Amino acid sequence: MSKKAPPKKEEPKAEEPKVEEKKEEVKPQKAEKKREKKKRQEKGVHAMYKVEGEKVTRLRPTCERCGPGYFMGDHKDRYTCGHCGFTRYKTH
Ligand SMILES: [Zn+2]
Repeated sequence: MSKKAPPKKEEPKAEEPKVEEKKEEVKPQKAEKKREKKKRQEKGVHAMYKVEGEKVTRLRPTCERCGPGYFMGDHKDRYTCGHCGFTRYKTH
């Protein structure tokens, strides 16, 4: 007895519609020219303070005339106040 194997029904392959994928050209974004920032040595008030933990130490002496809050400019041999022009020479 030989059984005939039923012929395999070939399922018709559904043709997949070819969809042409439009490749979107990814244009590289215009690289904005980075302007080189000129580094200014601008020293703000923060430069006058030095924070160590919770302690704040003032790196500049304050003007005797103007009172605390007016820092004096640090020069080679003297401190000057830009507010009133007071000059204090370094004594050491
Ligand atoms: Zn002053």
